[in-house]
Amino acid sequence: MDPIRSMLESVLAEVRPDDDGAVADYIPALAAAEPDRLAFAVVGPRGRVTAVGDSEHLFTIQSVSKPFVLAVALERLGRDEVLRHVGVEPSGEPFNAISLERGTGRPANPMVNAGAIATSSLVAEGDAAARSAQVLEVLSRFAGRPLDIDEEVYRGESNTGHRNRALAHLLRSHNVIDGDVDTVVEAYFRQCSVRVTVHDLAVMAGTLAFGGVNPVTGERVVREAVARDVVSVMASCGMYDFSGEWLLRVGMPAKSGVSGDLLAVAPSQFGVASFSPRLDPHGNSVRGIRILERLSHEFGMHVFEPH
Ligand code: GLU
Repeated sequence: MDPIRSMLESVLAEVRPDDDGAVADYIPALAAAEPDRLAFAVVGPRGRVTAVGDSEHLFTIQSVSKPFVLAVALERLGRDEVLRHVGVEPSGEPFNAISLERGTGRPANPMVNAGAIATSSLVAEGDAAARSAQVLEVLSRFAGRPLDIDEEVYRGESNTGHRNRALAHLLRSHNVIDGDVDTVVEAYFRQCSVRVTVHDLAVMAGTLAFGGVNPVTGERVVREAVARDVVSVMASCGMYDFSGEWLLRVGMPAKSGVSGDLLAVAPSQFGVASFSPRLDPHGNSVRGIRILERLSHEFGMHVFEPH
């Protein structure tokens, strides 16, 4: 067996018995996730993907969509215009907190829901279906294959998303977003409901790790400066209110989502993704954190490690 695959298999075997945490249960489709599912993938600079465990298993991307939608906003509007709508300061608060800047109403950063709804409003036009199609198209270019939407998860998000609707109305009241609030929120729910595998997420992470060029298809998806900006925001804000400790312990810009997905970037070296549905109290995948911790130590991937 090749050395990378056997290393990934051994990490998987090590974390597999850990059954700490609980699957997200705010909608039935997520509550029904099989908690023992476990998968892990890496992609290197030449686009070689190594995936182990349940690597073909599909799940919804959830908050891991946020950095990619931020990338689209930065690509289309430029950094200054995006920063007029959303900040880049870690909030230290849970993902669904009402953390809006006093006076301006700007959300703290694009990785919390309020900020993600704001960036989502910037990247597309038209009704919710048209916006969703535009976002899906770009996410697919990051992944290097056509992605689709889990309609059942989308309906669950939409039926229960009262807090996100409230956040969006607050943003609308501050003119952080404009237009029809429901259109923006429904497009955001659809963005969270895009179906992916760890293989897809590793390639998406790789596209950020390699300066905006998809390492598998060779397509430039966003400018190098955009990829750098996104990775910077992930480094400070990507792991909910665990982001500071994550940077200390693992030292890889990352983003996690409530389905149990986790994506991390080793700039110029690797794109990495894991999936394991049981979450800790911050909303991060318990075994995902352990996998990335091991990988970071094994390969010296901490960004502040002297090389
Ligand atoms: N759809 C979820 C929400 O907006 C995403 C949350 C997450 O993955 O953190 O509430």
